[in-house]
Amino acid sequence: MSIPSPADEPLICSAKGCPAPATWALRWNNPRLHDPDRRKTWLACPAHRETLGDFLDARGFLREVAPLAGSPTLEA
Ligand SMILES: [Zn+2]
Repeated sequence: MSIPSPADEPLICSAKGCPAPATWALRWNNPRLHDPDRRKTWLACPAHRETLGDFLDARGFLREVAPLAGSPTLEA
């Protein structure tokens, strides 16, 4: 029995087929599709932070990369 709670949802890496927990949020915007202030978010594990970041950066979409806050597993 689990009670749905957004805070307890595991945040999984957005890379295709990657089951790893995400520790980074990549915020991006495609100026051809989105308003300038709009942000899409991809989640990335440490192994894919660079891969996904490079993918977005190469297209000029990447706006910022921020560590995911609030994950209890990251607190010592
Ligand atoms: Zn990953």
